[in-house]
Parts: sequence; structure tokens; C-alpha cells
Amino acid sequence: MPLPKAELHLHIEGTLEPELAFALAARNGVTLPYADTEELRRAYAFTDLQSFLDLYYALMAVLRTEEDFAELAEAYLARAAAQGVRHAEIFFDPQAHTARGVPLAVVVDGLGRALDRGEERHGVSTRLIMCFLRDESAESALETFEAARPWFGGRITGIGLDSAEVGHPPAKFREVYRRAAEAGLHRVAHAGEEGPAAYITEALDVLGVERIDHGLRCLEDPALVERLVRERIPLTLCPLSNVRLRCVDTLADHPLPAILDAGLLATVNSDDPAYFGGYAGDNFDALAEALGLDDETLRLLAANSFQASFLPEERRAALLAEVAAYEFAPRAAVRA
Ligand SMILES: [Zn+2]
Repeated sequence: MPLPKAELHLHIEGTLEPELAFALAARNGVTLPYADTEELRRAYAFTDLQSFLDLYYALMAVLRTEEDFAELAEAYLARAAAQGVRHAEIFFDPQAHTARGVPLAVVVDGLGRALDRGEERHGVSTRLIMCFLRDESAESALETFEAARPWFGGRITGIGLDSAEVGHPPAKFREVYRRAAEAGLHRVAHAGEEGPAAYITEALDVLGVERIDHGLRCLEDPALVERLVRERIPLTLCPLSNVRLRCVDTLADHPLPAILDAGLLATVNSDDPAYFGGYAGDNFDALAEALGLDDETLRLLAANSFQASFLPEERRAALLAEVAAYEFAPRAAVRA
């Protein structure tokens, strides 16, 4: 049995595996600029965040109907559950779909169909967090926010900020985050992945975020680290993503040990697992191997994931008790 964990940084569009992409393309009459799944996989040799985003948005063309979104989410839940994920707070990018003429209701209701069955079928509870593309305008984010109001407090429980970071500081989205706070939604944002530590501070001060997605570059600002520790602001780290997008050279160079030593509330997540070489459990395994993490460190990371989640107190406590009682397999056969 794998170590129970929550996944807090997962873009549902980033779980589109090549096989499903080709199946949906055939069903929807979409022509992909790749001969087969092998050629597509070879295109996954990214040089930076932008080179990934270019392919990521191109492949989304295959997602058109409610059924497509339901199948995408169902496939993720099955894979995540097999790797010990018991709770997932899932990002989606409404603007990437509405811009292609796919109505917001198709996206939200399609995803919802699979998420509604997630707990019963896979033992995975879920939340849906709507992200704004930060390289789009503040006006576009506000329009998207208003269009999504019917789902607030129901299917949609929070907002986030993703896509190309550099040159798009958090303050650009001050107004939409103000409205989200007013609407009682949770607020998170990507910051300090490729962008500077100052974007993390700005996300906290101007947007009032409760969690920082990535946040790696906080280490460049000791006063900020101290604040993140003091205010118990979680970081949702994505190690395999960091290597693929060249934020770190190799996993052995990942700053997780320094982050934990500083007392930061770090969690381990998969970001866009179909593109970056692994789901949540794969990220735990790869880190354990590359950094020589012991069982108690893995247990701490799993406990952190539930602490940092937006779960109600009762389920959080139950899952934390499972983590505390978890018995690790002997190291040779370990499967975190
Ligand atoms: Zn991300």
C-alpha cells in the first residue's frame, strides 16, 4: 500500500497522456501535428517553461466535450489513487478552453462528472481551483471570474494563477483576488518558479494567497523565508517539473533539504505529470532516491500535504492518523 498523500499542485490539463490525446483527437476529428504517441513523447524535451507551454496549449485542442473532460479527470484519479493520493486540489485553466470556443460549463461540468465519483470509485476527495493565465490580461481574468460565479462555493472552491510567470507580477491580478476573497474562495498563486522572490512577497501582500505554488526562489530572500515559516505558508513543490523545465539541473540538486531545514511547510506534487515524467508517488520515489530521504522525511512530506490542504478538520485528522500509522516497506521494495 502506498504512503497516503494529498496532491495540491496538479493541472488537470497536464494529465493528458499521449494515448488519450490521440484517442480524443480521433473522436473529435482533430489532426495533431505528430505521427504517433512516440513522436509526441519525443516532443517533450523542454528547454524552459515557455517551450512546455507551447506544446501544452497545442494539445488542448483535443478536449472539446463534457465527456472528454470527464475522461481526462477519471484517468487522473485512477492513476493518482494507485500512487496513494487520497485528496487532490485540482487546477484547471478555463481561459485555455473558452478561447477555443469550449464553453465554461462544458469544462466544469465535465470535470465535475468524474470528480463527483472520485471518492466512491477511488477513495480520492477533491477540490477544484480555477486558475487564471497570467500572460492574459487582468480584464480577461475578471471576465472569466464573473462567468464562473454560478459554481462558487460548490464545484469551484478557489482561484489560482499560472502560466508564463516572468513579466507578469501578481499585482496585475489584485482586483480579481479581491473579489475572490469577498466571494469566500480560497486563494493560491504560482510564484517564485522562474520569477523572482519578490513575486512571492507580492502574492502574499497584494493577493492575500494562502499557499504558494512552487516558491523555490524564496531561498534567495532570508527575510521572506522567515516570514513563510512564521505564517505557516505552504509551498507546493514539484520536483520532476523543476528538472524538466530546468529550474534545477538534476533532482540531486533540488533544494528540498534546505527548504525542510529552514522549517518551511513543503509539499511534493506532480504539476503536469503527463509531461514531466511522473505522478505524485513517482515524485516522492524519485526524490527519495536522488536525495537519499529517509522514511520519516517522506512521512513528514505526506503529513505536510494534508496540513497544507483545504480539507475540513475531520477528514484532515483522519488522514493524518493514517500517515502517522503508515508502515514503510523495506527500502529495496519501497514505493512511496
Ligand atoms: Zn503548476
